[in-house]
Amino acid sequence: MLTTRPRGTNDILPSEAGKWHYLEELLRLVSKQYGYQEIRTPVFEHTELFQRGVGETTDIVEKEMYTFTDRGERSLTLRPEGTAPTVRAFLEHKMYANPQPTKLYYIGPMFRYDRPQAGRYRQFHQYGVEVFGSNDPSVDAEVIAMAMDIYERLGLTGLTVELNSVGCPVCRPRHREELQKFLEKNKAKLCPTCQGRYEKNPMRILDCKNPGCQELTQGAPTTSETLCKDCSTHLEKVQSYLQALGVPYVLNPRLVRGLDYYTGTAFEITAQGIGAQSSIGGGGRYNGLISQCGGPDTPGIGFALGMERILLTLEQQGLILPTKEMIHVFIAALGKEAQTKAFTLAQSLRQKGVIVERDYLGRSLKAQLKAADRLEAVLTVILGDEEIKKNTGIVRKMANSEQVEIPLDDITAYLIEELQKEGVR
Ligand code: AMP
Repeated sequence: MLTTRPRGTNDILPSEAGKWHYLEELLRLVSKQYGYQEIRTPVFEHTELFQRGVGETTDIVEKEMYTFTDRGERSLTLRPEGTAPTVRAFLEHKMYANPQPTKLYYIGPMFRYDRPQAGRYRQFHQYGVEVFGSNDPSVDAEVIAMAMDIYERLGLTGLTVELNSVGCPVCRPRHREELQKFLEKNKAKLCPTCQGRYEKNPMRILDCKNPGCQELTQGAPTTSETLCKDCSTHLEKVQSYLQALGVPYVLNPRLVRGLDYYTGTAFEITAQGIGAQSSIGGGGRYNGLISQCGGPDTPGIGFALGMERILLTLEQQGLILPTKEMIHVFIAALGKEAQTKAFTLAQSLRQKGVIVERDYLGRSLKAQLKAADRLEAVLTVILGDEEIKKNTGIVRKMANSEQVEIPLDDITAYLIEELQKEGVR
């Protein structure tokens, strides 16, 4: 127990942290370029937010939430997704009173009690964006294109965008009726969860992972057959905008996605070769969510990308992110006095923004130079008793082993200049 992490969680080890930094930096850069600002919400929220916001008939709320009662007898839940908390913050801070649209992004851990397997964890990380305040179909196309832009900048290939419209409060009731009619005679054969969904939200049955339910819904009426005029026009426009941007997609009329709050556009992006958990991102419109949470009638759209699955797909496709954590200067010191000098020189260089490493173990000069090599330092400063007597240090360029002796008083300026010449600062 004491030496094992909880099932379904991961340690991000120092050797992997570089990949995460690279990915997070890219996500922040792309967010900025598309005009999104970051929001950070708490890791836990009132349970009711997810019950109401994600939906009572979803897998997340029915089976996957980490819910607990705190010492004040409140029911709290570790966030299973980022949209409901973002909507909550939008309302709580009255962001709807600002000029619209509001464009927000988040990066952080999410928690779902699901059966762990490759690419599916109980704690995982999502990057997501939300646009509140516009129902324009070009926004739908833009967020899909933005997700694809991210994957493409990482070098990922072979991805598919699946697109659908799940309808709106005008056309959903008709779909519901037709679906119930279709399933009526097989109602008793549905899994227990779907038997409950039959009355409450039959559309969810199309999304059930149970093979029996999947078979029973073969040939079932899809949302696309019952779309109202507004929804079908909206979907057509989203498609023509995607075509204008050159983003390929396939229509999947069975795509309903796992969350209840979607209206209209729903999409999912899948990658080949990462096994059963092939969805690396997804999202859609949720024009009813903000008013359902007690806010003004405001349309919304967003997506969430699974960061572990992005990294997994990169690995599967043999792509290595350029994440080398570079050391600028290694300070090798021999003898007591030299070590003291190395100690203070390291600190003053770091305060000037130089990445510095030094020997902590009193090793031989040979061993210290080996360490500098292993860390791929650009420059190494060698401080021996001889040099200290002369108040100098030797600077060695690691790429070609060229050495020069520099007065210690000038060494900081010299190192910074040399690093600039090497293009590393
Ligand atoms: P969702 O919030 O369910 O729409 O999921 C959005 C994305 O998050 C998915 O496309 C996955 O990439 C990722 N994701 C969802 N659940 C998990 C999980 N249990 N483990 C890892 N990634 C997940």
